[in-house]
Amino acid sequence: MTNNNLTWHTGNITPADRRTAFGHGSCVLWLTGLSGSGKSTIAAQVERTLLSRDVHTYVLDGDNVRHGLNADLGFSDEDRNENIRRIGEVTKLFVDAGMVVLTAFISPFREDRDRVRSLLNPGEFFEIYTKCSLELCEERDPKGLYAKARAGKISDFTGIDSPYEEPMNPELVLDTGKLSVDECAGKIVDLLEKAGVIKDVSR
Ligand code: ADP
Repeated sequence: MTNNNLTWHTGNITPADRRTAFGHGSCVLWLTGLSGSGKSTIAAQVERTLLSRDVHTYVLDGDNVRHGLNADLGFSDEDRNENIRRIGEVTKLFVDAGMVVLTAFISPFREDRDRVRSLLNPGEFFEIYTKCSLELCEERDPKGLYAKARAGKISDFTGIDSPYEEPMNPELVLDTGKLSVDECAGKIVDLLEKAGVIKDVSR
């Protein structure tokens, strides 16, 4: 529903003002992949590294957001669409605030991820695929969710009875079955340096 009585208020601080004040750019690092593929673990590691380099950063994590903002949503396809739509809008606000925001959501549908990309300016959205076989994710099962899904205690579980659509053209693919957490986090930091979002400290 749109409200015709709303007017967009433009603030007088520009993105360039924030970049100068903070000493870095802003963007979304959108991690996508199966449950247990490593999104939360890698996002937390990148957040630590960025903070140690005085980069204003924040992780939006699937379970946390479902406790609050999206507590009214379930796991049907429709609710998953709405989950990602809201998170997309939140990331846009974080980017506007001048931050490097990481998201750790399965976000199984290509169309939903593309919609978030289209909300942002070119160069502000980095799709990062934490690639890991279902077998390995299931073996890790850090939250015991695969066991529950196999036992029929959870339905619509991605990879079991709900689909996951791999990214077609992600900015980065992390093979978390082969690389360590540190190596994966390092590749994301490299990506940010190469894109000029943060300073390249090696130069
Ligand atoms: P997700 O957020 O994708 O559901 P988690 O980060 O919660 O996944 O869990 C991933 C599990 O896999 C953790 O127990 C983590 O320690 C382990 N793991 C092993 N290798 C890696 C890697 N290269 N990257 C990320 N996690 C890894």
